[in-house]
Amino acid sequence: MSVKALFDLTGRVALVTGASRGLGLQMAEALGEMGCKLAICARKAAELAEAQARLEAQGFEVLAVPCDLSQAANVAPLVDAVLERFGTIDILVNNAGATWGAPTANYPDEAWRKVMTLNVDAPFYLSREVGRRVMIPAGRGKIINLASIAGLRGNPPGMQTIAYNTSKAALINFTRALAAEWGEFGINVNAICPGFFPSKMANALIEKFADSLMARTPLRRIGGDEDLKGAVVFLASDAARHITGQAIAIDGGSSII
Ligand code: NAP
Repeated sequence: MSVKALFDLTGRVALVTGASRGLGLQMAEALGEMGCKLAICARKAAELAEAQARLEAQGFEVLAVPCDLSQAANVAPLVDAVLERFGTIDILVNNAGATWGAPTANYPDEAWRKVMTLNVDAPFYLSREVGRRVMIPAGRGKIINLASIAGLRGNPPGMQTIAYNTSKAALINFTRALAAEWGEFGINVNAICPGFFPSKMANALIEKFADSLMARTPLRRIGGDEDLKGAVVFLASDAARHITGQAIAIDGGSSII
């Protein structure tokens, strides 16, 4: 098989959560460009419709499903909708996520639960549903979890996101444990650990910590609009068929110092 064919995703179906903006939309664009049919979800229907229009304008086939993934009951209907439209799911990108900043000593219970529910519970419920109904019977599939460099370590001084760091570390080991268990079914499970990328979630932090973030990043840049595309396409493709259980930092090198 040619290298181009190894990377080709023509006709594959990708479900990308939280793809109405930010990193999810960037990854959906990349998967669409490589040939995927796209299913995207997020809570706000209007912003999701805008994302759908933007993706369709690039010639991609797109199903948009407004869905609050913090409610476990919404997971099965989301999968139903994708299967009804496309018949299968080859690639699941667990991207929807949330954070909350507060000193740990005063961290609100509801903030802890909100972050853990979306960042840990939802990928578990959705992976279980897609695995059980589609990928295990098919004997193939790619699951890509959006973790973070925050899951690899603590934070620079002044950044107080205890639930977020905890949730992303959990997601990284969820990735390893699921990869170990589902490898025999031909399912690859990997995590991407972005550094700082401009987005609704990260903009305030990037602004506040701009100088120290840059000083702590060997490549002296923050993430950009194209910087996740190669990794998500690679992990979703046959080119990565022998890679599973890995957490790949895409962070300008900030996690190595
Ligand atoms: P973002 O711009 O805030 O986008 C989050 C996406 O998730 C939106 O589409 C949002 O749409 C959706 N979402 C939020 N809550 C949801 C819910 N309950 N149910 C369904 N969808 C929901 O954030 P981002 O920066 O692109 O982050 C995407 C992922 O990358 C997250 O997992 C984040 O932790 C991770 N990450 C980001 C950075 C960074 O620097 N940006 C760094 C490391 C990791 P609605 O609000 O309409 O639901």
